[in-house]
Amino acid sequence: METNVWLIGAGPGDPELLTLRAVKALRRAEVVLMDDLVNPEVLEHCPQARVIRVGKRGGCRSTPQDFIQRLMLRYARQGRRVARLKGGDPCIFGRGGEEAEWLSRHGVACEVVSGITAGLAAATGSGIPLTLRGAARGVTLVTAHTEDGSEPAWEALARSGTTLVVYMGVARLEAVSAALLAGGLPGDTAVAMIERASLADQRECRSTLAAMAADARAFGLKSPAILVIGAVAACRMFGIAPQSVEASAPARKQA
Ligand code: SAH
Repeated sequence: METNVWLIGAGPGDPELLTLRAVKALRRAEVVLMDDLVNPEVLEHCPQARVIRVGKRGGCRSTPQDFIQRLMLRYARQGRRVARLKGGDPCIFGRGGEEAEWLSRHGVACEVVSGITAGLAAATGSGIPLTLRGAARGVTLVTAHTEDGSEPAWEALARSGTTLVVYMGVARLEAVSAALLAGGLPGDTAVAMIERASLADQRECRSTLAAMAADARAFGLKSPAILVIGAVAACRMFGIAPQSVEASAPARKQA
């Protein structure tokens, strides 16, 4: 598609996980609107662009969503080449769908450039295959946090036989654990909690469904983090065999 507006997934943090298509779009951009989970190192691909940070973290108050959308629209209507940079994939808990639809309703076509979503990078980076024959027949990406306070159907997820990859779960560990236990998942189900996936200071805490909240507290787990719940969360593809991972291992830092 020929367009001058891109919604770009910047990947989970490691700038090497940017796609070539993202780099190409960044090189052409005149204005870059950047979310806060995006590693600023990716800006090396757009030294020519004016960069506007529109994130929620870093002490600033959240830039309201409609303000960001209007800003994008204004630049697009001025004929500027606009790149909206988001962490991970723009359409996985990133409001990319909303933004693309809104722009299209206002007569602006945009191209969505996929990025590697944090859940995939977190699992692979810590040696966890999200599907594994005989252990997990699928993967479910789910958020533990919704604006309206509604909950995912945890019981259905507990019965799904899929690996659960939970985004935005750090503040809701007790609730997630309790809901899945109530849904029938055994307390010794493996859990891996991966903080700052793909970055140099990535940390991970291996635990179980019953112990995850206490272990995370002892470990000092902080956002952004991904929870991987299911048999495969005991795997370590890089060396140690799954069966050697103790259930409810004490919190520890991985090398
Ligand atoms: N669009 C993003 C997700 C945005 S929601 C994506 O596709 O990855 C924000 C949540 O993503 C965080 O609360 C956390 O659960 C997860 N996340 C983002 N970056 C992360 C990282 N580097 N390590 C672990 N989790 C991350």
